[in-house]
This record gives sequence, C-alpha cells and structure tokens, in this order.
Amino acid sequence: MSVAEDHPELSIVIPLYNESANIDALHERLLAVLAKLGRPFEIIYIDDGSSDGTADILRRIHNNADSIRAVIFNRNYGQHAAVAAGFEQARGEIVVTLDGDLQNPPEEIPKLLEKIDEGYEVVGGWRKERNDSPPRLFFSRFANRIAARIVGVETNDYGCMLRAYRRSVVDRIRACAEGSIFIPALANSFAASVAEVPIAHAPRRFGRSRYTPLALLRLNFDLMTGFSLMPIQLVSVTGILVAVFGLAFALFLLLRRLIVGPEVEGVFTLFAILFFFVGVQILALGLIGEYVGRIYMEVRRRPRYVIKEMLN
Ligand code: UDP
Ligand code: MG
Repeated sequence: MSVAEDHPELSIVIPLYNESANIDALHERLLAVLAKLGRPFEIIYIDDGSSDGTADILRRIHNNADSIRAVIFNRNYGQHAAVAAGFEQARGEIVVTLDGDLQNPPEEIPKLLEKIDEGYEVVGGWRKERNDSPPRLFFSRFANRIAARIVGVETNDYGCMLRAYRRSVVDRIRACAEGSIFIPALANSFAASVAEVPIAHAPRRFGRSRYTPLALLRLNFDLMTGFSLMPIQLVSVTGILVAVFGLAFALFLLLRRLIVGPEVEGVFTLFAILFFFVGVQILALGLIGEYVGRIYMEVRRRPRYVIKEMLN
C-alpha cells in the first residue's frame, strides 16, 4: 500500500442494504469520477446485513483493488448506523457519503468538493427535483421544516445523504455515543459553516426504497426526538390551548343553559370534542413513551452495530 493510500485525501462512504443489482454500475461510475478528480481516495462500502449476496460482490470488488474497503454487519442496523461505521473507518481528510442505489449520481461529488475547498465544514446535497413518490415528498418537506427549526441551521434537504464532511466534523460525530443518530442533523449542529448545493436526483434503478413506512417513521423520530424537546413541549402547549378552549366552551354551555334552558341536542358534538381530547392525550402519552424508550435504549448502552467481517 502506498503512502497515499494510507492517508487518502478522500473517503467515500456508501451504505448498502440489498443493493446487489446496483453495486457494479455504481462502482464503475464512482471510479470514473474519482479518476478524474485525481485525489488519493478510498471507498468504504458498508453491507448493512444484506441477504442478497451484496457481501460477495464486495469481496469480488475488494479483490481487485487496494483502495476499496468494506465493513460487513451481522444484521440490518439501518442506514445511519452504517454511515457511522463508515465514519469510524474513514481515514480521509474529507468524507463523502452517498446512497448505494444510484439515486445520488456520483458525478455530483466534484460539486460538493468545490464547496469544501472553499472552506465549508459540511456541504449537503439538495435534491431540488426529487424522484420519489408524492407522499414521501410531502412528509419529507414537513420533516425538513421541523429539522431546520430544531437543528437551527436552515438548509433545504436534511434527508439527502449525498454530502461531504471535513475531518473535524467527522471526528465530532464519532465522539457522539448515543445509540440512534441522524447524521446530517448531527453534522449541521456541529459544523461552523454549512453549504448546500443543488444536485440531480435519479429514480431508483433497481429494487424499491429499503425504507418501509415504519422504518421511515422511526428515522423521523430519531430526527425529531433525538435533537430536542420541542415535540413534547409542543404537546404541552397544545394541552394548555385545549384546556383554555375547554374552559371557554364550558362557560358558553353554562350561559346557554341559563338563557336557552336545558337541551339534549349537541350530545354528539360533545362526543367529537371528547374524542379530540382523548386523541391529544394518547399522542402525548405516546410521545412521553418515545422519550422514555429512548432513555432506556441509551442507558442500556448497546453497541450501534456489530461487525461480522472487515475487508481492508
Ligand atoms: N440502506 C441501508 N440500511 C437500511 C436502509 C437503507 O444501508 O436499513 C441504504 C440503501 O441500501 C441505500 C441507502 O441506504 O444505499 C438509501 O436507502 P434507500 O434508497 O432505500 O432510501 P431512499 O432513497 O428511499 O431514501
Ligand atoms: Mg434511494
């Protein structure tokens, strides 16, 4: 191994979960881009517990080159755990992450590096024209607004994983011990300067999103509750508003009773209002449960992931 490969300037980190159909094309395009850049690099693939032979493909790719490394998990731990494992392994001064399904074109990497060279600590890709399903886009927009609020850094796309980080930020993220992490938000909260560049976004080439609706919900909970107490505080505010509203309503009913006299109609309206209150209460309970559950998970101190095999 040459000196350059011992200390590559650039580490590319790619999480893979059942992406066997995409790896070869991705690898080829990535190598072409990196060759043109002419900076010493390493590519770190993380197999996040795939069951489709992704690890075998990685072994084959690895055999052909020194600068290709791989981490193979013993089961599925999620994209962000996989990227965290990549950060742990990365030796480069600059770390670039991207998806393994070719939705993030490797050809956009130079754009990110340009901004890094300008001095930014974190550069995020912004999928201005996203190729995902409409409901996904709707919820993402919503989650983004909240994330920007919570993290306090106004960027348009917290979900995009085509990003570049300087070593300083990578080290700060590595120092975080919490079990569930959301890397772009963590990075933005640590970085002194964050830039965002519009990038292309392709439809998924093979297979469908590896996120089930439940996994996506969990990821968003990681983002929301992992970064602030705002959600639970919002519930408290809702509670106060509902109580005020309830009191006003009671006064109104009392006045009505005095003016109109006893009446039976409106019973169902009351039911509707009651159901609303009950709903808010259950939501509040669930949210408290979410925080308590998270405290429990953190207290247990289980490892974020377990590595089965390393290809170095
Ligand atoms: N991924 C992963 N572990 C998971 C889910 C996804 O490593 O549990 C990887 C996946 O293989 C891909 C990237 O994360 O390289 C983004 O996933 P996907 O394309 O399914 O997400 P989407 O584009 O729908 O956000
Ligand atoms: Mg994708």
